[in-house]
Amino acid sequence: MTQADIGLIGLGVMGANLALNIADNGYKVAVFNRTAEKTTAFMENAAHLKDQFIACYSLEELAAAIKAPRPIIMMVKAGEAVDQQIEALKPFLEENDILIDAGNSDYHDSNRRYRALADTPFTFVGMGVSGGAEGARHGPSIMVGASDAAYARIQPILDAISAKHNGEPCSALMGPEGAGHFVKTLHNGIEYADMQMIAEVHEVLTKCLGLSIAEQAAVFKKWNEGPLASYLIEITANVMDVIDEESGKPILDVILDTAGQKGTGRWSAVEAHALGVPATGIDAAVASRCISANRVLRQEIAEIYPNNETPLTWDDKQAGIDACERALIAGKIAAYAEGFAVLAAGGAENGWNLPMGTIARIWRQGCIIRSRFLDEIASAYDEKPDLQSLYLAPTIAERMKDAAPGLRKTLAKAIGSGIPMPGLAAAMGSFDMMRQKRTAAYVIQGQRDFFGQHGFERTDKPGTDFHGPWPAGGA
Ligand code: NAP
Repeated sequence: MTQADIGLIGLGVMGANLALNIADNGYKVAVFNRTAEKTTAFMENAAHLKDQFIACYSLEELAAAIKAPRPIIMMVKAGEAVDQQIEALKPFLEENDILIDAGNSDYHDSNRRYRALADTPFTFVGMGVSGGAEGARHGPSIMVGASDAAYARIQPILDAISAKHNGEPCSALMGPEGAGHFVKTLHNGIEYADMQMIAEVHEVLTKCLGLSIAEQAAVFKKWNEGPLASYLIEITANVMDVIDEESGKPILDVILDTAGQKGTGRWSAVEAHALGVPATGIDAAVASRCISANRVLRQEIAEIYPNNETPLTWDDKQAGIDACERALIAGKIAAYAEGFAVLAAGGAENGWNLPMGTIARIWRQGCIIRSRFLDEIASAYDEKPDLQSLYLAPTIAERMKDAAPGLRKTLAKAIGSGIPMPGLAAAMGSFDMMRQKRTAAYVIQGQRDFFGQHGFERTDKPGTDFHGPWPAGGA
């Protein structure tokens, strides 16, 4: 029997779809799953692609089924399962075999695994894959953390299976070690911010503009033809169109208001804090999911503090809809400016030269945050690869100047109406602070010196260790 070009371990939702995608692209795949029944079921469902697979029921069989040196993708649960899988595979590996962790791993784990395997004859690759099951099946966005040599060997397969944007593969090398998983983490963080802001605007459309869900679906479809064009806007319209079969109501009316999370959004926020770079939009989105999940407590608090605010409306409905569109554009710019700043800082901290323009480019198709706006980010980095902030890019500045007043108007109406706007308010606050020549932080410096003699700098002369003539009570 011809040996396989690649191995794949883990035939869950993502692994099975990725295996089918690889086979579709003409590669032979040896497949293995811890629970044997899943391998059998996978083969039974492989239909016309069946001959492209070699079903393996032990790791020894798997290793024997792949041409050496072997690339093996692990698409298993993130965390300990990956370490266990690597250890279990080691006895069957040979020199130059490449172990590719394609799950949503913590990038610190990928750094550790990369370094640990560097002392062995094998190579570790940490690979972020975005796009959910559909992306895995028909073309995901792929963020690779690998040595140049390992990447050169697996690149043809990755380019083939990835999504394409104008014929360009949405797959690229981000750097060594955990660089791929770091970029994937921030992708998910930005995704959280995007989703939260869309949910907030839906509430404004409902409460301040009185639009039904069906009317909102039409608005989102229209927005999807403009600067907001993106997968998330498109699927929001699609979700709004769906009627629940049991109740006959729009499905959004019967879905419980608690949003789950698997951790990558939170990791983004934690990384941003550790790097000392603001990611207020991501923070707000993570916090909002936590608040949403605390449903029982919310019911109790809501009894004490009912929202009695009269909704603030717009006299001109279309003006309100336009303001909401601009609010989302401005919020998106703020969230991406922060997200890309975290990426740059994380790259510098880890000694990776993250390809910022390429990141924007490979997110244009295949992944959940794919959008037209990413073209503008890619162009901004093409024009100035060392761009310090997206806010400084001329095209983005033009867009922000146009959109920010819409965000401000939308927030004024929403907050006046008692509608929670953590994501969009964070975007506004972050942008407003970033454009201050003098922030209010001088008050904080005064307080810090008063109670802790931390010293401050002055505006009128050089030096770093000035103290105030504080009255008694100062430290
Ligand atoms: P899934 O359907 O739950 O499948 C999990 C797979 O991991 C199964 O094949 C399972 O094998 C295997 N597994 C679990 N623990 C194991 C262990 N200790 N040793 C060996 N194998 C083990 O999950 P999934 O959605 O495909 O996700 C797989 C990975 O992709 C995760 O890291 C996930 O975060 C990531 N990811 C998911 C998505 C998504 O949209 N679902 C998107 C991007 C990335 P058994 O059948 O034996 O249990």
